[in-house]
Amino acid sequence: MKQFNLESIIRSNIRSLTPYSSARSEFDGSDSVLLDANENSIATGNNNLNRYPDPLQQELKQVISSVKKISQGNIFIGNGSDEPIDLLIRMCCTPGVDNIIICPPTYGMYDVAAKINDVAVQTVVLTNEYQLNTAEILKQVNEYTKLIFICTPNNPTGNILNDSDIQLLLENFAGIVVVDEAYIDFADKRSWLCELSKYPNLVVLQTLSKAWGLAALRIGLAFGSQPIIMLLNKIKAPYNVNYLSQQAAIQALTKNNSLSNTVNTLKLQRQHLAKELISFPFVSKVYPSDANFLLVKFTNGNAVSNYLLSKKIVVRNRSNQPLCKNCLRITVGSPAENDLLITALKEYQS
Ligand SMILES: *Cc1c(COP(=O)(O)O)cnc(C)c1O
Repeated sequence: MKQFNLESIIRSNIRSLTPYSSARSEFDGSDSVLLDANENSIATGNNNLNRYPDPLQQELKQVISSVKKISQGNIFIGNGSDEPIDLLIRMCCTPGVDNIIICPPTYGMYDVAAKINDVAVQTVVLTNEYQLNTAEILKQVNEYTKLIFICTPNNPTGNILNDSDIQLLLENFAGIVVVDEAYIDFADKRSWLCELSKYPNLVVLQTLSKAWGLAALRIGLAFGSQPIIMLLNKIKAPYNVNYLSQQAAIQALTKNNSLSNTVNTLKLQRQHLAKELISFPFVSKVYPSDANFLLVKFTNGNAVSNYLLSKKIVVRNRSNQPLCKNCLRITVGSPAENDLLITALKEYQS
């Protein structure tokens, strides 16, 4: 078991940084005379929109804490999960020096966020069964490797990655293992959140954009040890989550069962769609999915993608990704949308 030392994987300029202290971060409460942030104090007709929002989103964190059974000090809220992805890279990786490891085919933002920061990306392709090649990952790790990004259920393949493999990485990698669980609420599996206290080098990402149906709010969640969360807070933009999004998220998360209702419907639709798709002679495989999409292998993926586009049906062409030749990623839509897709494919067949 490798010893994890957070200090040693944080960039030195971030370690020594004195963060921006926003006017409002010195205040915690209401009914005060707020002459600290140069807001327009007399423009009060607009439901608090004249005031800067809570920089640490404490009311929303309280709600998330009770939904997820995680202490507030272990929660970071970002402007979508793309924000913590970028912040983790900036927090740990010195541009032009350090690197991250990703395991394609996977979510595209890890690679892009690293490259925007001039951070090298080492790729270790998944096995033919779409599982982690842990031996190769550990072989690729060098003294400059700060982060390993893992996505489970994986986008675009839809499957869960084996717990034992992720555990092996957590125990043998001296940097941070980021486990992106954007689709966890569609899976019949425990979240890695349950293991947070056991692994100081584990960061779990979740989002309100998928199962919660709140993509427009741009609310992403990162869960990790208190020192990691404090570092993320130190380097984030001061008011990174806007007031309207915070309020809307609080409302949605406190409403009973708003998650499970649509999730169950989508899971049934996923099953239905998979059965319909596999019956087409030009579909060679529908991969099992624990997410709200299906990876589907066609005899000619590009042709099907272009045909669907001509019918104004947009799916994600993943055929240029490793291990995804002729594959399209199809989001499970509403029953009506799924029927339109099947109808279009029947036309394509004839
Ligand atoms: C959709 C998706 C996200 C996106 O999250 P936002 O919170 O909307 O930024 C993150 N990770 C994966 C794997 C995704 O598919």
